[in-house]
Amino acid sequence: AAAARAEGLVKIYGSGQTAVTALRNIDVSFPRGRFTAIMGPSGSGKSTLMHCLAGLDTVTSGRVYVGDVDLSKLSDKQLTQLRRDRVGFVFQQFNLLPTLTAAENITLPLSIAGRKPDQEWLRAVVDAVGLASRLSHRPAELSGGQQQRVACARALVTRPEIVFADEPTGNLDSRSGAEVLAFLQRSVREFDQTVVMVTHDPTAASFSDEVVFLADGQLVGSIPNPTAESVL
Ligand code: ADP
Ligand code: ADP
Repeated sequence: AAAARAEGLVKIYGSGQTAVTALRNIDVSFPRGRFTAIMGPSGSGKSTLMHCLAGLDTVTSGRVYVGDVDLSKLSDKQLTQLRRDRVGFVFQQFNLLPTLTAAENITLPLSIAGRKPDQEWLRAVVDAVGLASRLSHRPAELSGGQQQRVACARALVTRPEIVFADEPTGNLDSRSGAEVLAFLQRSVREFDQTVVMVTHDPTAASFSDEVVFLADGQLVGSIPNPTAESVL
């Protein structure tokens, strides 16, 4: 099964004269172990699509699945649980807690869920993200690229079905951005993680396996990226 998919997804914000149709009948599937980039003009529905797929936003009609789970069948409580255990999210603004160390930020989703870290997995993620020597630092003592890598490690720490990243390199210079992208790419190659990333930046998109294009709330095409492997 796909890590996540949408069938006939429609999202309308508001109602009546002021209604905005953000997504018009989207069918899309994100296979396991693939790094997909979503591109498209501002306002084309990229963030809305990710929010609906991640269960952060309700849909107007159609269906959204994470793994085999139909999100429309879940109670609010089950949906919260699914978001916590099976979905990772990386935001443009990092969203780290300033008073916690890098290590505490990374393991926060486990603390919230009352789960013990799987030490082997934690070490693998911390090694891959290249932050072993920065774990006791607070966010203010880290560069932007390091902060975003902490946020990526945090998104991966629960071994989620799928990680969504909304413009993860939007606030970074190109070198820091490349470090974050290399880590996301490595998580797909080494851990068989599924990653979906919204980006405006063609260089960022070149790290992905496939680019899908949105325009005016519709999928208008996709291209596989045969060169992604060689970027690392
Ligand atoms: P993108 O991420 O591609 O820039 P968005 O998903 O943010 O696009 O927005 C798609 C459309 O939905 C835009 O017209 C936007 O103004 C509208 N929109 C997004 N969020 C809301 C909201 N919470 N309320 C009303 N309209 C929204
Ligand atoms: P992005 O394009 O990166 O999603 P936006 O500035 O479009 O950034 O949206 C930022 C936030 O504002 C999002 O949570 C989005 O849902 C919300 N939003 C976007 N457009 C509207 C709108 N027309 N009305 C209300 N909320 C909106």
